[in-house]
Amino acid sequence: MIKELLKENLIFFEENKNLSAYTSWKIGGPASLIVHPQNKKELKIVIKVLSDYKQPFFVLGNGSNVLVRDEGCSEVIIKLGEGFSRIEIRENEITAGASVPLAALAAKAAEHSLGGLAYTSGIPGTVGGALIMNAGAYGEEMKGIVSETEVFDVRNQEFYTLSNKELSFSYRSSFLKNNSGYIVVSVTVRLHTDDSAAILQKMKKYKNERLMKQPYEFPNAGSVFKNPEGDSAGRLIESVGLKGRSVGGAQISEKHANFIVNKGGAKAKDVLTLISLIEKNIYDHYNIRLEKEIIIL
Ligand SMILES: Cc1cc2nc3c(=O)[nH]c(=O)nc-3n(C[C@H](O)[C@H](O)[C@H](O)COP(=O)(O)OP(=O)(O)OC[C@H]3O[C@@H](n4cnc5c(N)ncnc54)[C@H](O)[C@@H]3O)c2cc1C
Repeated sequence: MIKELLKENLIFFEENKNLSAYTSWKIGGPASLIVHPQNKKELKIVIKVLSDYKQPFFVLGNGSNVLVRDEGCSEVIIKLGEGFSRIEIRENEITAGASVPLAALAAKAAEHSLGGLAYTSGIPGTVGGALIMNAGAYGEEMKGIVSETEVFDVRNQEFYTLSNKELSFSYRSSFLKNNSGYIVVSVTVRLHTDDSAAILQKMKKYKNERLMKQPYEFPNAGSVFKNPEGDSAGRLIESVGLKGRSVGGAQISEKHANFIVNKGGAKAKDVLTLISLIEKNIYDHYNIRLEKEIIIL
């Protein structure tokens, strides 16, 4: 019935598609339904239909921080479409739709001589995903630049604006993480005036540093674990001799031990086995329970 109602409302959806096509790890089994609302009106209809049928859903951004299990998922996947990819500039503030790639937002800011987003250079997420995860690097994070966020409140079926404070940002997290009660629609960032060439140079420097230190040559999802207080997860994993360890097609990167790479044909179960191995070794050696940064679907 859900599909009939979506069809009736001319809302685009795909069926039985492997989510490996939608994740940076290139791993993941099928979703029975992937819905692509193109604007706020369609999003409202989609959520009404799914809520009426008590159908759980998961909003996927660029899938650059998500591990989808091999057996796929029972949630309906929501991928925000065209109407969520606009960028508007007002003086030193930019409002970007949730599906805008961070790279496009940073490039636009640089073009308009607005600084504050250079740190995102090389983070392959969308604006929505970056907000949820409080994406950060080089000592900066979304918390420092977000002024407000428009969300769709699933329970009340209404759009609201949340202030920076209401988002309760913390290290790689926000109040909206693991909270399917809200969908990010757009994000407004407050930036500062800066020299365009200087911003671009900073972005290039960050990108080059990443290319040197991180395994961009293989599909991955960035850091698998959060850094424990005062230490780095990569250093700990390397210190217990796990760098380079493989299971199936997955490998703890030889370049950066907090990255697990897909060397070809990796399954989610291979990645999960490596994750368990790391967790056990770090606990046995250091009595530290590493916390996962990635989200498992
Ligand atoms: C090579 C590489 C380098 C990386 N480097 C960094 C780094 O330096 N710093 C960093 O913080 N991260 C890094 N990441 C991780 C990742 O890119 C970020 O977490 C990014 O912000 C995730 O955005 P996404 O659109 O891919 O979100 P997804 O992975 O698709 O989703 C992440 C979470 O956000 C939710 N979500 C996404 N969009 C919405 C929405 N519109 N409404 C509600 N919920 C939503 C999803 O449900 C999920 O819970 C890296 C990843 C890779 C592959």
